[in-house]
Amino acid sequence: MLRSPAAAVPDEALIAGQWRRGAGAPAETVDPATGLVLATVHAVSVAEVDEAAEGAARAAADPAWRSLLPHLRARLLHRTADLIDESAEHLAALQTADTGKALTETRALVASAAGTFRYTAAALETAEEAITPSRGDYVTMSRYEPIGVVGAINPWNSPVASDAQKLAPALAGGNAVLLKPAEWTPLVSLALGRLITRAIGELGLPAGLLSVLPGRGSVVGDAIVRHPLTGKVTFTGGTDTGRTIAHAAAEKLMPVSLELGGKSPTIVLADADIEQALAGVMFGIFSSSGQSCVAGSRLFVARELYDSFVGRLVERVEELRVGPGTAPDTQVAPLVHHKHRDSVAAHVERARGEGARVLCGGSVPPGDAYRDGAYYLPTVLAGLDNTSLTCQEEIFGPVLVALDFDGEEDLVRQANDSVYGLACGIWTRDHRAAWRIARRIDAGTVWINTYKQFSITTPFGGLKDSGLGREKSRDGIRAYQRQKSLYWGTSDAPLPWAN
Ligand code: NAD
Repeated sequence: MLRSPAAAVPDEALIAGQWRRGAGAPAETVDPATGLVLATVHAVSVAEVDEAAEGAARAAADPAWRSLLPHLRARLLHRTADLIDESAEHLAALQTADTGKALTETRALVASAAGTFRYTAAALETAEEAITPSRGDYVTMSRYEPIGVVGAINPWNSPVASDAQKLAPALAGGNAVLLKPAEWTPLVSLALGRLITRAIGELGLPAGLLSVLPGRGSVVGDAIVRHPLTGKVTFTGGTDTGRTIAHAAAEKLMPVSLELGGKSPTIVLADADIEQALAGVMFGIFSSSGQSCVAGSRLFVARELYDSFVGRLVERVEELRVGPGTAPDTQVAPLVHHKHRDSVAAHVERARGEGARVLCGGSVPPGDAYRDGAYYLPTVLAGLDNTSLTCQEEIFGPVLVALDFDGEEDLVRQANDSVYGLACGIWTRDHRAAWRIARRIDAGTVWINTYKQFSITTPFGGLKDSGLGREKSRDGIRAYQRQKSLYWGTSDAPLPWAN
């Protein structure tokens, strides 16, 4: 395989404050638009995970960090946000090269990462600790204290944003963090690690506060989860992996938060604004080439509208511009990796075997321009039942299945007939119907007449097999802290034996 000429990318791991090549196996990371190698990143060894965890535990216990008042701790987050802004174009280009995502999208993700650090700093500076109502001769209060060492394990689809969503509140909570990026996309996390290390150095904080540990999940990820010093794991990724991590955490009675997979319904009622619904349904599944946990991959259209809506949808999907993430007009960029593209293609083949009709797409795009990239055409399938494997399993690619429904009961039954419960979109002008359906759908997030809008102020997470716990919002920091109750006696009288 050819080496990319633009291979000036970070390839060293960050182990307890030291940048160096990991002692584990080398892995090539590839630009999925061209198939060219971007960098060879060595995994860290299990011994290096140990070293990182010990460094993190020392940093977390160091009074220079542990005793730092919240508004002073917040300076690390503010400085990180500034450094992200200064490097925004580099980070976006790096993420586009590593994940294939369109530059328009990666620029927005980088901006949101800086915003996450700023918002979390503000939440930290303004967080309140409660004096609780007293029921005796004492003052009672509830304090939030750091956990110590937090393991943060992320997937490959939006590294800069998901890293920020874990690092900002975990650091704000007063912890040290072991960050493990996904095997296919370590570069942005390593670049972000460089910026945070710089901020740590400038502020004179303990160097071990952050480690960035590339490598395989079953080796490096597992070592982070099982390490006796790791006090919490926050994980985003597939449901099977989440379950494995939850089992390991149960052994240690360690808290975990899990942001997992989805098979989210987008629902078009008969009275919907059709143009708005068409644009929203397409954005919901084909932005990020469907590689989004909240991708609206099951489309439910009211039976009386189904033929005309799906017909127009297919016309519009065929007009989507497929191309490299670096082209300004690209709407559907390559998938993250050739292996993942092949997995999406295999899902579509299986759908054909289940009796699906391929209304559009269903193959790699023709033409030399697409030959070396991990491209797959935006695909709409029909003719399947919601109980089919294609409708039940997450594909994580640009594949939409169109289904119909006959009335609200049928809709809710089908939409909820899934192991997942991550997100849902409803398109209608009937606000009462939207309100009713939104409350009946099993989903952590419901969008009404919009889709895939995110705010750091609003909690995010899944129900059922889509996860455990919530990220974001003012309470996000609390997920990285332990609550301690204090009773402070105020009476000189001896304690009564009975009360
Ligand atoms: P994955 O589960 O294969 O891997 C995620 C991370 O876990 C990677 O860093 C991997 O190396 C690590 N890992 C794998 N096995 C491990 C183990 N035994 N112990 C510890 N760590 C381990 O997921 P993926 O393929 O990288 O990402 C796609 C999945 O992520 C999809 O299912 C998608 O829905 C999900 N996702 C969910 C959200 C959300 O917020 N709910 C967001 C993005 C992606």
